[in-house]
Amino acid sequence: FRMTDLRAIVAEITEEMAAAPDRGRPASYIPPLARVDVGQFGMAVVTADGDVFTGGAADEAFSVQSVSKVFALTMALGRVGDQLWDRVGREPSGSAFNSIVQLESERGIPRNPFINAGAIVVADVNLGRGRPRESVGELVRFIRSLADDDSIAVDAEVARSESETGFRNVALANYMKSFGNLRGPVEDVLALYFGQCAVAMSCRQLAMAGRYLMAGGVNPVGGHRVVSAARARRINALMLTCGHYDASGDFAFRVGLPGKSGVGGGILAVAPGRASIAVWSPGLNAQGNSQLGTLALERLAMRTGWSVFGRM
Ligand code: GLU
Repeated sequence: FRMTDLRAIVAEITEEMAAAPDRGRPASYIPPLARVDVGQFGMAVVTADGDVFTGGAADEAFSVQSVSKVFALTMALGRVGDQLWDRVGREPSGSAFNSIVQLESERGIPRNPFINAGAIVVADVNLGRGRPRESVGELVRFIRSLADDDSIAVDAEVARSESETGFRNVALANYMKSFGNLRGPVEDVLALYFGQCAVAMSCRQLAMAGRYLMAGGVNPVGGHRVVSAARARRINALMLTCGHYDASGDFAFRVGLPGKSGVGGGILAVAPGRASIAVWSPGLNAQGNSQLGTLALERLAMRTGWSVFGRM
């Protein structure tokens, strides 16, 4: 595989995905996600040299949902550093993204920052003593700066739907509050959490925003340091072990790259030192991960040889 083949590989995978018979089902818990057409597929690969290869609907904005948890975690680590780990674990949960069961025996400390409970604690950190509107704005500005794109914004309809139907997230937040693991008002923490889930981005924007994770914490264009190399490595480790809910092991097995998925059908994946990759297809598999997005990444990893587990 040579870098010059990447354009062809992306085109080939995009064509294969267009013909894929089994596309999964879109998330159904809120109307704006349920009505998205599962026929869509997009892909963007940004290399360490700054080349961008795209396929399909790479410029179509979609609801990033839990992919935002990567950027929210990065921001929270910037605010409180390793103290975050007193309040959130770093173990894969092996249960669904919105599960509450482990919180009881683990005294309100969520397993990791990428399940909903963990992301709600992260939102509490990012809220600080502020107002949710400002905190959502701060996160959006952070994502815009990572992606070098000021057009990224929150989809207000999705945010509203999230809060109208987020009963389980309300339960998770209240439950953690009862253990003393939320500092801010539950309503405000959740308003930030719902706002961050509702950020809309295209594959191109998402792959651009993920560049610091492939490049040792530095945004390769302009050389601006986002996080230390050690922190980028750890965020990648969490994406690998916890980025796909209860299918994280399967994603590592099939793709072999750190990745974070969201129920909007997007996945951000990182080939350290090589590329930042985003795929999107709204049809989900049984664990809530993009069916074609996962397949596309599996094929990309196979054809490029990219893997954190060794060379092919
Ligand atoms: N807004 C969704 C929820 O909190 C996000 C789920 C996800 O993408 O994992 O239920």
